[in-house]
Amino acid sequence: MPEVAIRDVRKSFGAVEVLKGINLEVGRGEVTALIGRSGSGKSTLLRCVNGLEKINAGSIEIAGHTVGTDKSALRALRRDVGIVFQSYNLFPHLSVGQNIMLAPRIVKDVAKGESRATAEEVLALVGLSEKFDAYPDELSGGQQQRVAIARSLAMRPKVMLFDEVTSALDPELTGEVLAVMEQLARGGMTMLLVTHEMGFARRVANTTVFMHQGRIHEAGPSRELFENPKTPELAQFVRSDV
Ligand code: ADP
Ligand code: MG
Repeated sequence: MPEVAIRDVRKSFGAVEVLKGINLEVGRGEVTALIGRSGSGKSTLLRCVNGLEKINAGSIEIAGHTVGTDKSALRALRRDVGIVFQSYNLFPHLSVGQNIMLAPRIVKDVAKGESRATAEEVLALVGLSEKFDAYPDELSGGQQQRVAIARSLAMRPKVMLFDEVTSALDPELTGEVLAVMEQLARGGMTMLLVTHEMGFARRVANTTVFMHQGRIHEAGPSRELFENPKTPELAQFVRSDV
């Protein structure tokens, strides 16, 4: 059983179909990277996968949940599926520790002592133990994004989704965030991520999926895909992007 199974998924906004029949599986502990030009449907697909957008056709299963519209089912799904975006959206009036403890305490009704221990653990994972009592505006963008990842990890997700989490960062801060993601991947986390970082996709993702005009245009083992693109569209994308 794959941890993520996307079958014949279609999604339209008004009259415009932006996902035109997507089929994709991610096995447990595997990392799949979605690449492609702006507007090719990567973010929409990721949002469909955790139920932020309603699909028009097909089916999605993730972490043992079928993605639907039922509110309580969606809450259950989101306890098992973490998502991190380009904008980290930490609460500015809460400390790093409080930001991380919030969701487990509210959503999972975790006791205060336990949520603190978990927060300390996940903060250590992203290399920011000393920032527990700091406030978001005292951190660099890269550090804030690492806190956002830690906040997701505090929910003990089975699958992590990442949408261009380094795109808003200065180049010198990108590496520290990618390093955290790589460590997560090596630790066996199932991950589906959208990235512009071709080197990262090639090195860390088992599979890379090239999306083009709402379809999976080409997909395969990452190294093969980058070394030997089979379609002119991917060849051009790789040339222009690297
Ligand atoms: P990518 O992440 O690959 O850049 P997106 O999934 O964001 O692509 O967008 C795919 C297409 O869907 C684009 O043409 C975009 O304008 C359109 N789109 C995305 N979200 C919406 C929305 N909420 N309403 C209408 N159109 C949208
Ligand atoms: Mg996008």
